[in-house]
Amino acid sequence: MAEKTDIRSLMLDELRNRLKEQGIQGFRADQIYQWLHQKQADSFEDMTNLSKDLRGKLAGEYELVTLKKVQVKVSSIDGTRKYLFELGDGNVIESVLMRYHHGNSVCVSSQVGCRMGCRFCASTLEGLERNLKPSEMLEQIYQIQKDLGERVSHVVVMGSGEPLDNYDNLVRFIRLLTDEKGLNVSQRNITVSTCGIVPGIQKLAEEGLPVTLALSLHAPNDQVRKTLMPVANRYPLAEVLSACRTYFKRTGRRLTFEYSLVKGVNDTLGEAQALADLIRDQQGHVNLIPVNPIEERSYVQSDGRSIAAFKERLEKNGINVTVRREMGRDIGGACGQLRKSYMDKKEEGKRVAFLRMPSDDLAGDA
Ligand code: SAH
Repeated sequence: MAEKTDIRSLMLDELRNRLKEQGIQGFRADQIYQWLHQKQADSFEDMTNLSKDLRGKLAGEYELVTLKKVQVKVSSIDGTRKYLFELGDGNVIESVLMRYHHGNSVCVSSQVGCRMGCRFCASTLEGLERNLKPSEMLEQIYQIQKDLGERVSHVVVMGSGEPLDNYDNLVRFIRLLTDEKGLNVSQRNITVSTCGIVPGIQKLAEEGLPVTLALSLHAPNDQVRKTLMPVANRYPLAEVLSACRTYFKRTGRRLTFEYSLVKGVNDTLGEAQALADLIRDQQGHVNLIPVNPIEERSYVQSDGRSIAAFKERLEKNGINVTVRREMGRDIGGACGQLRKSYMDKKEEGKRVAFLRMPSDDLAGDA
């Protein structure tokens, strides 16, 4: 049997055309699209203003992708929530909700696993399993919004995976997410983070989507960058930064440069100066991230004094810089670690979803 079409990944005009071919009237497409993206229906049965007959027809023709909430952990410090979702094929992904003054922000995963191999990152330890579909990226936000009972206004594609390694699905996801007939998130409130895939950056610059691009820099030169990020062997910094300049020129959006500080690897004052010199002409913003150590690697977080000195040196050079607040410090781990600990436990055959921490004030199985 042919695979059913993933209806939540269709744009409204695509849906309309398909329904038309089936002899279904145009206004039905609008109704269905609203169920999919505004009312965020979990089943065709929920679409109560459609006839039973039509709902049956849809179910026969289309797949309605939904994510199952497996676990939620809530920080008692800042209200950050970490979610584990199960996909239709049994894979598990991680998403994070962060509460800010300016609104609710969700960090979404773009792939199951990752093949980029960054040395300090837990998401990549077991390689890439598969790309996420647009519907599976949307559903992370939809399910969180329903769970929270509040609107999500900001989205960062900074969870597991390399978004530009899943380019077409990423762009479709952004178009659906920002559609005024969908959740209608402002394009300016979306950030896509990349390890620096040059053709992807160049292509995104031409999409006519003014989203913020965050570049994971992590080093001021290729030599150090290669020790942390295998992708640096493929795309040298000069090319990456040139693509970033193009991105700014084409979109008018200032870039964010992410720099994870690793003790003894990339955190000297000389490196701060080299970083300032490297990006001086870019009018970007630097986000310093104290590296979050993972069990499998021996990297250590820079100490507070080095972080402050690094920041000060950038500021003296006129660079706009912030140190990332560690959100949800009490609920554990760097990107991908939550999923990994869950998968490890599953593999051991234990039915323990998570080790419970004293700070687990809510959480609980879904
Ligand atoms: N693949 C994309 C997005 C995913 S990771 C990218 O590389 O940008 C989001 C950010 O978190 C990246 O800057 C990544 O390098 C960083 N990161 C991953 N693991 C980390 C860790 N253990 N400590 C600090 N930063 C980490």
